[in-house]
Amino acid sequence: MTETGGNGVLIVGEALCEELVGRTEAFHAVEDVFGAMARGDAWNFPVVREAIGYADALYGFKSGFDRAGKVLGVKSGGYWPGNIDKGLTNHQSTVFLFDPDTGQLSALVGGNYLTAVRTAASSAVSIAHLGRKDAKVLGMVGAGHQSAFQLRAAAEQRDFEKVVAWNPHPEMLPRLGAVAEELGLDFEAVSQEELGAQADVIITITSAFEPLLMKAWIKPGTHIACMGTDTKGKQEVDPALVAAATVFADEIAQSITIGETQHAVAAGMLTEDRITPIGAVINGAHPGRSSDDEITLFDGTGVGLQDLAVASVAARLAGERPDAQRVTL
Ligand code: NAD
Repeated sequence: MTETGGNGVLIVGEALCEELVGRTEAFHAVEDVFGAMARGDAWNFPVVREAIGYADALYGFKSGFDRAGKVLGVKSGGYWPGNIDKGLTNHQSTVFLFDPDTGQLSALVGGNYLTAVRTAASSAVSIAHLGRKDAKVLGMVGAGHQSAFQLRAAAEQRDFEKVVAWNPHPEMLPRLGAVAEELGLDFEAVSQEELGAQADVIITITSAFEPLLMKAWIKPGTHIACMGTDTKGKQEVDPALVAAATVFADEIAQSITIGETQHAVAAGMLTEDRITPIGAVINGAHPGRSSDDEITLFDGTGVGLQDLAVASVAARLAGERPDAQRVTL
């Protein structure tokens, strides 16, 4: 008997993940697992994230178990700021999936592409469930690696006609403009105030440590997906805006500690009981948006179960291929 499941450990590399897991697969996997989390059928384990004191790297683990989908595993990786000079992505991660019946390692899945596609799926799920149906203008705050994935996934959720964008480093915006053009959407680089005045849906996806969008700039009825804040101290929007909005999160515990709501909660402007897990809306237990004037805000902090959900799709599809790569430990 081998020590690694009947068929050995499946190896699913980055290129194969890209081939197998598209935006639609990621959307459904993330939507399903958010629903399972809200029902109590899936839970994340405490996140570990440490500065290792070498290569300026941050390294950690995100893990969880989805009893409904029978997915158990861990995403391991982090941030290596010097990678860019070596021609590598700064964020590096790998997902390990285990057989929940035996604990045997079942698959090793590249996590870099999957992180981007599952993060974009998270904001897309929030737009699908919380954005106004008649939304026409998408506002993008951020123009880094994740932003193009975010734009592509968001564009599929509503009949958008135009993208307005702002980034602290304006020289990065043309790349995002090229994606909008490819999608047949008008693109305009605007000021932060103008972005708030025009946008019906806004995605923030930066590495900011101070508010980039103020409450006074946002018009009634806007849906905002805050996606960049995933660490203590990071911040993208005015806490007064968070406090004034109807707030949803992927996971409340993570939202109030490392997500966008951490600041409004610390300032006493928002209490935990005013945050609804997006899964409750997906499951029909919460109505979501209740009027066309309501500002809805989704805090997408990025949970391990999202990574495991998309990795398990990649592993299932890879395992069905005749050329599936397996090793025995
Ligand atoms: P990137 O390095 O490619 O781009 C960084 C973006 O942030 C750019 O728009 C840049 O102009 C802006 N920026 C950089 N430093 C800034 C500063 N000091 N103040 C304000 N803006 C600044 O990064 P990326 O891969 O596009 O990721 C963007 C953010 O999203 C990161 O903070 C990352 O940690 C976060 N992220 C979140 C999740 C999630 O699940 N919530 C998943 C992946 C990444």
